Amino acid sequence: MKFFTLIIFTGIYLFSGVSFANCGDGARQSKVYRAFVACQELRAAKLPTEINQLTQKITDNGFCGINGCDTNETLNKVCTDPAGYVCQQNQGRYLTTDCEIDLTKPEDVANTPDYVDAECRAQAQADLFFEAHKSECPSAWGPDICQKILKISHSAELDLLEKKAVYTAERQDKLTAVFQRIQKKYLSLIKTSTIIPENRKSMLIEKIRLTHLQVAPADDVPCMNTGAKGPETELFNQLSPDGKNLIVVCIGAMSLLDHLNEKELMMTIAHELSHSIDPCSIEVDYSLKDQGDPDLALKTFPKLLQCLRGGTGLRGCENGTLNCNSDQGITQFRHQYESAIKGSVLKKIGAWMHERQLVDDAPDCPMGKSDPRQDGDDGSDYRRDPQPVDQIQESFADFMGAEVVGHILQEDQQLKHLDQKSQLNALVATAASFDQLHGVCQKDNTHDEHPVGMIRMNRNIMSSKYFREALGCTNGPPHTKNAGVTCQGF
Ligand SMILES: [Zn+2]
Repeated sequence: MKFFTLIIFTGIYLFSGVSFANCGDGARQSKVYRAFVACQELRAAKLPTEINQLTQKITDNGFCGINGCDTNETLNKVCTDPAGYVCQQNQGRYLTTDCEIDLTKPEDVANTPDYVDAECRAQAQADLFFEAHKSECPSAWGPDICQKILKISHSAELDLLEKKAVYTAERQDKLTAVFQRIQKKYLSLIKTSTIIPENRKSMLIEKIRLTHLQVAPADDVPCMNTGAKGPETELFNQLSPDGKNLIVVCIGAMSLLDHLNEKELMMTIAHELSHSIDPCSIEVDYSLKDQGDPDLALKTFPKLLQCLRGGTGLRGCENGTLNCNSDQGITQFRHQYESAIKGSVLKKIGAWMHERQLVDDAPDCPMGKSDPRQDGDDGSDYRRDPQPVDQIQESFADFMGAEVVGHILQEDQQLKHLDQKSQLNALVATAASFDQLHGVCQKDNTHDEHPVGMIRMNRNIMSSKYFREALGCTNGPPHTKNAGVTCQGF
């Protein structure tokens, strides 16, 4: 979750380096593009020689999948260590048997067929736009300079062309339907929960109910256009000034939507929705209402935070698996915002937090120094600052997301039994997407607010009995350090 991410818009990446005649030619030579096309061809292939050639082509281009890297793949094997399994298969670069793919680096997404198609459609529209507006330039400028000037003077209109090409009505509808289904299930699970105290329920229900999914192109969301480094792949929940939560889908994530595994997509949306009620969100909310209670999250989700953290003591922090805030982190965080108040762009946020003593009263929020080496556009990058920050809010979102999706999938199974192939695809697709985030395929924990993929997948997600059993895994991963636990959310 991001409360106050500074996004600096660094100019238009769209249309750079390509001309209309050969739009997308460069991307078509990339490994990502070739692997994806080979995967699609493989699905239709019948002859053994053809199948071998295409399988080899996928592997040569750095991907695994469809028996490409592991001929002994079984559901039982993957269940014992989904994160490790996917990491042995090419650092999480994986295509499922339905050629579903997920990528976190903007430069990889820029080379996927769906993104290339959308960009070329947008470029054709832009060329018409330039033609229609060329009279605005003196003839001495020539077409190149004229286009450069028009890109600056008409940036909003040109940005909209790109947004319309990626944020299609079909994709908006698909995402909205997934979101509404998850939101509905979330609300009913809170209402019927025997674990969440009755007097806490109305607040949670309100927060989930008022969370909005932003899928329509908006002018004021920079990541809905391609940035300087490519299409950002983030999907995040942010707190709006009116106190409501908004889930934003950046252009890279939207352009992957047609070839994302459906269950993995559900997990992503359910994770983001969970941020509306995560321990940090609860504390910030109550601090805003001048009712700060540092133990409020613990009281709202009895035993859950301790179970996820895995240690001892009131919060489960001592010798736990997840990072908790340290005194040093809290001091650094406070210092950062106090200096921000003295005149930087963070002034407003700093003052807002200081006034409400959030820095003192929110021990479940990430703290510690920000790391200037961390690249906010790149989801595979992670915090390398020696000061660890709290990981409970991200781990809570992983776990509660898995609980909600697990309930939905179990409901589906009563109607139509999920076959082993779709269980396996869902498990590897989810593990592959988490393994690529915040420190690709690391086993040891980072200092990031997001734990490494191994902890997120094998521990946070697989500690939901409902999720793992829906995907055909009877137990949590037994061969993974600190995993193999079961926590309870609802
Ligand atoms: Zn998150």
